[in-house]
Amino acid sequence: MNKNDDMEKWLIATFGRRAAGEAVESDETLPSICPLCGDVSDTIAKRRRNTAYLDDKNNWLISCKACFEEDYENFQELWEMIIIQADEEKI
Ligand SMILES: [Zn+2]
Repeated sequence: MNKNDDMEKWLIATFGRRAAGEAVESDETLPSICPLCGDVSDTIAKRRRNTAYLDDKNNWLISCKACFEEDYENFQELWEMIIIQADEEKI
């Protein structure tokens, strides 16, 4: 089993079957201007972040796709560091 399999298992255990990046129907009215970068965009959606905040509302982001991808990449790097650290502690 490689690191990606471990991470995949961990993500599923943590988030259930809902994958990060999934856009969902929102009760909230979605803005036509991205709240993060201020660009007018037709890719604005409410998407599940690859975060694991206890308060689940923090695990969602309303933004354009580019801002979502930046957020995703930042947390992906953090998770990889955490997994590497955990591996080193096992040795
Ligand atoms: Zn944006």
